[in-house]
Amino acid sequence: MKLTVLGYLGAYPYDGDGTTGFLLQSGEFNLLLDAGSGTLLQLQKYLDPLALDAVILSHYHHDHIADLGVLQYDWQLNPQRNQEKILPIHGHTEDSFHFNDLTLAGVSQGQPYYETDELNLGPFLVTFMKTIHPVPCYAMRFVEKSSGKVLVFTGDSGYLEKFNDFAKDADLFLADTYLFKGNERHKAHFTSLEAGEIAKAAEVKRLVLTHLPQFGDLKLLQAEAQAAAGPQIPVELAATGKIFDI
Ligand SMILES: [Zn+2]
Ligand SMILES: [Zn+2]
Repeated sequence: MKLTVLGYLGAYPYDGDGTTGFLLQSGEFNLLLDAGSGTLLQLQKYLDPLALDAVILSHYHHDHIADLGVLQYDWQLNPQRNQEKILPIHGHTEDSFHFNDLTLAGVSQGQPYYETDELNLGPFLVTFMKTIHPVPCYAMRFVEKSSGKVLVFTGDSGYLEKFNDFAKDADLFLADTYLFKGNERHKAHFTSLEAGEIAKAAEVKRLVLTHLPQFGDLKLLQAEAQAAAGPQIPVELAATGKIFDI
């Protein structure tokens, strides 16, 4: 599978870069993973948005859904679209206002997922884990059926020991790292230290830090995570346009 970073900042776009959004591809299947601010413009560099097969959302904070409405308008108004094709948008149902917004008649259809589910989504099997966050949010574990390769995306989360199992042996661990070391046990986000410690405990093969802060030295953030993860696990920073082959 191939993961393309469309946006990697936490909270708000800054200096030309957008907030959380990734294109996850396997074979001919194109999945948009979160739809933060700026992701539609970035997506258009790689793919006609009409070629998306599905969208999946970790939660409904603005920095993860800001471009969802304009994506729906693209599908609604783009004359190229096959009117028979409806865009499935997978989200949790614990916020009915936002879940109902996933459906736009004749355009997109909200599809509920649940923590107990194993979602069969095209080439992927997806499982979920509720995170530590001010609003309901789910981490996702994607297993590519053809290869057995695993991507784990934390969504947004404060430290949660259960990630040690949930991310076990992941080929790529994509972790919310909004905070520098020294802010541990925050109610909403990992620190660099926590991202590294979980990567180590879970014995992941590669750690990518995302949901990055707008300010501060990102090289330091990376070094802090690398020190905690240990020398066996390469630690990288997400950046707009970066592509990870998994
Ligand atoms: Zn966020
Ligand atoms: Zn959030």
